[in-house]
Amino acid sequence: MNQKLAFPDLVPDLKSRMPGLRGRLIANQSLAELTWFRVGGPAQVLFMPEDLQDLSEFVTHLPPDIPVTVVGLGSNLIVRDGGVAGVVIRLGRGFGDITIESGARIRAGAAVPDVKVARAAQDAAIAGLSFLRGIPGGIGGALRMNGGAYGGETKDVLIEARGVDRGGRIRTFANADMHYAYRHCGAPADVIFTEALLQGAPGDPAAISAEMDKITESREATQPIKSRTGGSTFKNPPGRKAWQLIDAAGCRGLKVGGAQVSEMHCNFLINLGGASAADIETLGETVRARVRETSGIDLEWEIMRIGVAQG
Ligand SMILES: Cc1cc2nc3c(=O)[nH]c(=O)nc-3n(C[C@H](O)[C@H](O)[C@H](O)COP(=O)(O)OP(=O)(O)OC[C@H]3O[C@@H](n4cnc5c(N)ncnc54)[C@H](O)[C@@H]3O)c2cc1C
Repeated sequence: MNQKLAFPDLVPDLKSRMPGLRGRLIANQSLAELTWFRVGGPAQVLFMPEDLQDLSEFVTHLPPDIPVTVVGLGSNLIVRDGGVAGVVIRLGRGFGDITIESGARIRAGAAVPDVKVARAAQDAAIAGLSFLRGIPGGIGGALRMNGGAYGGETKDVLIEARGVDRGGRIRTFANADMHYAYRHCGAPADVIFTEALLQGAPGDPAAISAEMDKITESREATQPIKSRTGGSTFKNPPGRKAWQLIDAAGCRGLKVGGAQVSEMHCNFLINLGGASAADIETLGETVRARVRETSGIDLEWEIMRIGVAQG
């Protein structure tokens, strides 16, 4: 049976513990619409804090046995079909400010789409942030994933990030505290990033605009960006390209249920319409097994997978 089960409703208890809470709490909220893949089950509770103080107070008073998961713009995410137990936090308007600061710096809230930061930088004649034009996530996701494209990475431009830990403490992380590596951030896993301060360099708006146009054209020509996808599925192993290994393993176009390895870019998986999260994850694991058989290389998931499979 494919009936979706609901989690027990935690909202009345949480509201009575935190009468001053200003953000929205919703029980059994579907998460599929919050991801690019458009698959997956509900959050037991979805919390959208009003601002930094609201977020900090919420996690401070949340019983420690309730797990917390953060989602950004859902462009690097598979939510499994059984949904996510505990609280899922999504930052919204209260984390959406962009400020230009002196010295070619930009401060951006974690909910700001990367693309918007790239545009604001161009308007302010700040170079060095155009790569953000190529990443369809938000600043929170860029901080956690060390998002990068076209020769730039978050670690190259980050001065400091601010966030809230599971104890509700507001903390600041200098670039070195993020312990960045390729698509990896070594800051404590419980930190919910709320803001980034980014360093650019003085530049020429026309040249920046031309660079962003090139990035847009290149993405449209090489990536299935209009599909329901999660971007690059696997990290490139050292010295290798994941897509080449996947192609050599004969997986281009491979299907499981409603999920398919993109014909256009075979490190991208696509929901053709009716895929479940299980279809997509099984397809990914099938690709990993075939690549292991043909090349001996173990591909590592870049896409984050959260929640539980449907029972
Ligand atoms: C068409 C397409 C193209 C892409 N191209 C690129 C590319 O060129 N380069 C690249 O790096 N990525 C690319 N991606 C992947 C994705 O856009 C990036 O990983 C992006 O940084 C994820 O941001 P998000 O806001 O969507 O995060 P989500 O997908 O929502 O979350 C990703 C991870 O970040 C965590 N997270 C999100 N917000 C926060 C926060 N505020 N605090 C703490 N943790 C948080 C989540 O818990 C999760 O672990 C692409 C994706 C798509 C769909």
